[in-house]
Amino acid sequence: MTDVTIFTRIINREIPATIIYEDDLCIVINDISPQAPVHMLVIPRQPIAKLADASVGNKPLLGHLLWVAGEVARQAGVEEAFRLVINNGQAAGQTVFHLHLHVLADRDASGTFSEANM
Ligand code: 5GP
Repeated sequence: MTDVTIFTRIINREIPATIIYEDDLCIVINDISPQAPVHMLVIPRQPIAKLADASVGNKPLLGHLLWVAGEVARQAGVEEAFRLVINNGQAAGQTVFHLHLHVLADRDASGTFSEANM
């Protein structure tokens, strides 16, 4: 396999990361270069390159990823104010071609975000 991503290497414990949550379908890690006080990445174990590559059969997985995003937001105490971002394609800012959801929030959940660049 030629397209092993950095996220697959994190999932396989070949590269260290702060793992917030994991289950049989996905992991959640802290972003190495946070764009907000809370910046987590929800990553499916299945290495779908980008959202638009997901198949009809991936619909349950995609729903699960959304649920997990809400769950880790609750765990982080930011359930009243957070954003989800998915960059699809290089021109949209995607740099790691392994589907992932950015969960972004201010720690105080005040409703204003310290960064608006994602
Ligand atoms: P994208 O630009 O593809 O939507 O998001 C990729 C994200 O992965 C970026 O926010 C980047 O900071 C993060 N990232 C890239 N490499 C690593 C890594 O090795 N560890 C962690 N924790 N995050 C990473």
